Amino acid sequence: MLRLTDIKLPLDHAEDALPAAIRAKLHIGAQAIRSYSVFRRGHDARKRGNIQLIYTLDVEVADQAKLLQRFADDPHVRPTPDTDYRFVAKASEGAAHRPVVIGLGPCGLFAGLLLAQMGFRPIILERGKAVRERTKDTWDLWRKRNLHPESNVQFGEGGAGTFSDGKLYSQISDPHHYGRKVLTEFVKAGAPEEIIYVSKPHIGTFRLVTMVENMRNTIEALGGEIRFQQRVDDLLVETDAQGTRHVRGVMLASGEQIRTDHVVLALGHSARDTVEMLHRRGVYLEAKPFSIGFRVEHPQSLIDQARFGPQAGHPLLGAADYKLVHHCRNGRSVYSFCMCPGGTVVAATSEPGRVVTNGMSQYSRNERNANAAIVVGIDPADFTPYDNSGSPLAGIALQRHWESRAFELGGGTYEAPGQLLGDFLAGRPSSAFGEVQPSYKPGVHLTDLAGALPDYAIEAIREAMPAFDRKIKGFGRPDAIFTAVETRTSSPVRIRRNDDDYQSLNTRGLFPAGEGAGYAGGILSAGVDGIRIAEAVALAIGTKA
Ligand code: FAD
Repeated sequence: MLRLTDIKLPLDHAEDALPAAIRAKLHIGAQAIRSYSVFRRGHDARKRGNIQLIYTLDVEVADQAKLLQRFADDPHVRPTPDTDYRFVAKASEGAAHRPVVIGLGPCGLFAGLLLAQMGFRPIILERGKAVRERTKDTWDLWRKRNLHPESNVQFGEGGAGTFSDGKLYSQISDPHHYGRKVLTEFVKAGAPEEIIYVSKPHIGTFRLVTMVENMRNTIEALGGEIRFQQRVDDLLVETDAQGTRHVRGVMLASGEQIRTDHVVLALGHSARDTVEMLHRRGVYLEAKPFSIGFRVEHPQSLIDQARFGPQAGHPLLGAADYKLVHHCRNGRSVYSFCMCPGGTVVAATSEPGRVVTNGMSQYSRNERNANAAIVVGIDPADFTPYDNSGSPLAGIALQRHWESRAFELGGGTYEAPGQLLGDFLAGRPSSAFGEVQPSYKPGVHLTDLAGALPDYAIEAIREAMPAFDRKIKGFGRPDAIFTAVETRTSSPVRIRRNDDDYQSLNTRGLFPAGEGAGYAGGILSAGVDGIRIAEAVALAIGTKA
């Protein structure tokens, strides 16, 4: 098979334009093409009014060797790489040993799935509820201001990405094509097939719920066991005569102990109590940089117009997204993060008395507003005002401080504090919404956000917004709405692991994984890391394939 890259066609091309483009590119006749498929479809929107589709195509041709020779100097004609997934190990016949996976977010889901597919019958422990019950609890906060600390946007089946935009792209390097395995399994579980080939696929919340359930059924059918409302509260660790620490099992909140020598930690970035427990148990942790800021909302039509001009609304383009960055005079960088086209801002706290924002959308992305986090990068030196003990958990203290402040500024009712962009820039509190209506539930309490983040962050965001307005005309419109506070952008802690066997730096048998351990940022990369970790566990227990 040949892979042709960078095949450009107009947005409204006819179906037979693809084989015609193949013939033109390879200088061959129709009879030389046996079959072709679209590997990827993206678009180039740099020229307003002349948006082009950019294809990567896999083509089966009559005389591949000859064509490869002819196009030896053309980087856009190459043999198609082998992206099929192959298992690295399998469980030994009748093996009694069962690995434990903590957490059923995308990382735990893929670690559990792969271990089950290799025959290891994993036990997966999830503190939250199964996804349907979890959905009700999550909506209870959004509709009635009742937070369920163990069942919410962060905790429960599917993990943090379940109520999300379901964006499935990532900039990670993926030489083993694990991302393709993730997408293929998602399609088997009910995702639309297009996620395999569109360049920026997304799924949206409703479909994710069903997919997560289907994946659970697959894991169980393969002998895995999934237990909900089973929070791991302690780790059983033994030190051998050489002074090496080994994990020997976990203890649940109920007091039950599960013995195992292999534990995958796929906790996500919000299990602060569990990370505190790991710290007490002496597991090697370190503070890591992350970002803090606000969510901003604009009319989606403004973003569509700015990005797509007269072609806005074209079904192949969908709702437009954006990605912005600005380097500030005070040395900080401000950037847009987790942009949700045609979506809503959601209440994403997991702790009482705190307010956290995030964004989600449905597959259709047809809500009125576009939203994105506008965040400022911070690093461990910024954490000391909140905890100067030198603890690796100081970033959590910072998060809690500003999440509690957001709760107070929002009126103490789980409403998010908000401000119109024009007022934020002018340094005056807001008192009425303009044309843009906020989507955050249970509501937005207008106030002054100058006290909602550290001064350097406020200064940086004030400098960045006019710069963003120069990139997207109208981005700085005075009635765009900020809501606070966006603190859970990634984990403030890294649970360090070895580069070779992926086990904790100082505790054998413990496999830190996913976003909570600092090894992923997003659904796809967390799934990819789950695969990587399942392989490491399988190689540690099983027979090499
Ligand atoms: P998580 O998904 O956080 O899963 C961790 C799981 O571990 C949780 O279910 C938790 O309950 C469980 N757990 C924690 N502690 C324990 C314990 N002690 N015992 C038992 N279980 C425990 N990313 C994207 O790529 N695209 C998006 O569009 C997107 N949108 C998002 C929207 C929202 C509202 C949120 C909150 C996040 C979004 N993200 C998105 C980020 C993405 O969800 C995360 O990067 C991803 O879920 C991380 O996967 P994970 O498996 O590492 O951790």
